[in-house]
Amino acid sequence: MTRTIPHFVGGSLLTPDEGRFADVFDPSSGAVQARVPLASADEVRAVIDDAEAAQSGWAATNPQKRARVLLRFLDLVQREMQPLAELLASEHGKTVDDAKGDIQRGLEVIEFAAGAPHLLKGEYSTGAGAGIDVYSMRQPLGVVAAITPFNFPAMIPLWKAGPALAAGNAVVLKPSERDPSVPVRLAELFLEAGLPAGVLNVVHGDKEAVDALLTDDRIKAVGFVGSTPIAEYIYSTAAAHGKRAQCFGGAKNHMIVMPDADLDQAVDALIGAGYGSAGERCMAISVAVPVGEETADALAAKLMERVAKLRVGSSLAADVDYGPLVTREAVERVEGYIQQGVDEGATLLADGRGFTVPGHEEGFYLGPTLFDHVTSDMAIYREEIFGPVLVIARADDYEQALRMASEHEYGNGVAIFTRDGDAARDFAARVEVGMVGVNVPIPVPIAYFTFGGWKRSGFGDLNQHGADAFRFYTKTKTVTSRWPSGIKDGASFVIPTMH
Ligand code: NAD
Repeated sequence: MTRTIPHFVGGSLLTPDEGRFADVFDPSSGAVQARVPLASADEVRAVIDDAEAAQSGWAATNPQKRARVLLRFLDLVQREMQPLAELLASEHGKTVDDAKGDIQRGLEVIEFAAGAPHLLKGEYSTGAGAGIDVYSMRQPLGVVAAITPFNFPAMIPLWKAGPALAAGNAVVLKPSERDPSVPVRLAELFLEAGLPAGVLNVVHGDKEAVDALLTDDRIKAVGFVGSTPIAEYIYSTAAAHGKRAQCFGGAKNHMIVMPDADLDQAVDALIGAGYGSAGERCMAISVAVPVGEETADALAAKLMERVAKLRVGSSLAADVDYGPLVTREAVERVEGYIQQGVDEGATLLADGRGFTVPGHEEGFYLGPTLFDHVTSDMAIYREEIFGPVLVIARADDYEQALRMASEHEYGNGVAIFTRDGDAARDFAARVEVGMVGVNVPIPVPIAYFTFGGWKRSGFGDLNQHGADAFRFYTKTKTVTSRWPSGIKDGASFVIPTMH
């Protein structure tokens, strides 16, 4: 009998006997390891009932006590780091060490969100007019939804849940159906940390469940991370139903390598950021942009040497640089792109197709792939591949490299490798991309700054984590008060001003 991964609703695990189910694979072996229920619209509405019932009590709990739940949660997750990371790796395919990073980057946002008592403070102006004081307060929205992708099954649910919970909301999390176990375990640990039942719920599902969340009046905000077409759909549907939404999408992150860069450092950075987690990161570097032919030739030669030495294997094996992709379809999609690159005339320097790992012949593996002489009209340059494929797109000069990153339809992350401070400053100021690295290949901002891409990498006007997250998960109420001593003039029919 295949194991069924339960929902987590109203503080309990819930395993439906009937309805629709999807397979959850072990990407390292290619075998089905469990099945996950796909909630119906009615089931989702029942989850929202639970969340709504729990929310008012949680909102009335003072912020310091809410923060203490987050602090206890941090300890519980640290205690369980190893088994959680193994569980994550076994469904996602990333290595156990990388899975620990996935969890840790989530915990860092929980640490930040534990500052809620400070972050939720309003503003106050005394004597704004004769006898008039004005103050504002931040209040929770109510029940909010989080819809998250497969590639960071711990980090992104925690980026959503941490600030939303700390601000006094209840959360309905709809994680990716491809690796759903870790979010359920995290919700159990929140309960153990003292979060009241029903305040954080995990419901599995696909479009039917998502649509039920998007169209239900009781859901006040939607936080989404995933591919761009779905981000766009969620953003417009949520807005059409009167909800605030922040929706983060796909990416095509460039790394500019200037002629003065330390080439060995740049190659290290490209190898880690291009192939780590099999390229299944929204902040992966997928385009290397060497400036000038000499830099390009040297970079390509060094990359080829390093690519040949990459170690690919089971996600649970030690001494592996990256593991399998998440599904067989993902492997086929990436192989399709590789063929398209060849057909469009790019130079294939390393071909990862047909790669197998001895003892795991059915696993979803793909060897590291490297293209050179890629041009901006090719699909492998324009589109997100989301696999272990790095392309070299050569630029004649700095201005061309800057334009390439700025004009690409995605604007998530970008990096420049250089020893020239002026070039780095100019680049950071002018590039049309949301997150910039200077000699840092994956510039994911730390928890107390905000994370968000530009252009078609992000829809909505507030970023994830940092102070923006508390703005997103609260509504501001502003109170203007006047005391009797200030009320002397009788009725006024003219709008009050400060003239
Ligand atoms: P995805 O868009 O397929 O799925 C994301 C979520 O949307 C999942 O929960 C899924 O169940 C749901 N979903 C899928 N199809 C849907 C539909 N038709 N209607 C409603 N909901 C639907 O993304 P994925 O493959 O899980 O994740 C990879 C993508 O996420 C990549 O494009 C990657 O760049 C992006 N990503 C972006 C960021 C960022 O911060 N910008 C971070 C991580 C991942």
